[in-house]
Amino acid sequence: MVHFVGAGPGAPDLITVRGADLLRKADCVIYAGSLVNPALLESTKPGCEIHNSAIMTLEQVIEVMQKADSEKKDVVRLHTGDASLFGAIREQMDELDRLGIAYDSTPGVSSFCGAAAALSAEYTLPGVSQSLIISRMAGRTPVPPGESLSSLAAHGASMVLFLSSGLLHEVQDELLRGGLSPETPAAIVYKATWPDERVIRCTVGTLAQRGEEEGIRKTALLLIGQFLDPSYERSCLYDPSFTTEFRQAEQPKP
Ligand code: SAH
Repeated sequence: MVHFVGAGPGAPDLITVRGADLLRKADCVIYAGSLVNPALLESTKPGCEIHNSAIMTLEQVIEVMQKADSEKKDVVRLHTGDASLFGAIREQMDELDRLGIAYDSTPGVSSFCGAAAALSAEYTLPGVSQSLIISRMAGRTPVPPGESLSSLAAHGASMVLFLSSGLLHEVQDELLRGGLSPETPAAIVYKATWPDERVIRCTVGTLAQRGEEEGIRKTALLLIGQFLDPSYERSCLYDPSFTTEFRQAEQPKP
């Protein structure tokens, strides 16, 4: 059987308990070597077969899975962050379906959560934004026509961009074209939760320049929006005058 496992954003103790357990028991691990922390592989059992998918094609990955499965081995396919975001898991699952190989999926902590933690940020601040747009700048991989960065930026919602730190000038231009002001708060988070994590706070207008100054080209997320500004409204959830399913509103004091 094949287990798709989210490895978390980098720090080895940010894999889930279930993911760590599957990794310990695996007979064969195929890990995304470009981003998964190799320290995670230290927990595998002696004799566990290890493959780095960064240097493999989809066909080669499936071949390893098929061989291991035919030998009744348990395979862990270790993806960075959470596999449902830019993980290219669907094409693997479709091949496994075609071959009649069983699989399951264990979620992981995505890097966009790691980046928010690094910034002590909340994407969904009351009165600021109640939506988070997760996207990327079109590069060698295109994005569908309705999802251009400028059209997404026009919402003014909180935004996090994957796979775009090598295209900072283009990102900045698109965000401005979408109507964001150059003063809109932004941040670049490089290698969130890794020991060499770096946090660069800037604005939409200084995104490209700050990224260049800091030499950021990959393994970074771009966060954009007023949620990075210190002003916001308190939540209703913890407001004394707000009744919830679990708590009765306090009576105003006479
Ligand atoms: N599934 C992953 C994303 C894979 S796409 C997840 O959920 O996080 C690869 C992109 O993710 C990188 O180009 C970078 O933009 C981002 N990324 C992955 N790990 C990161 C980290 N620790 N810090 C910052 N960005 C990261």
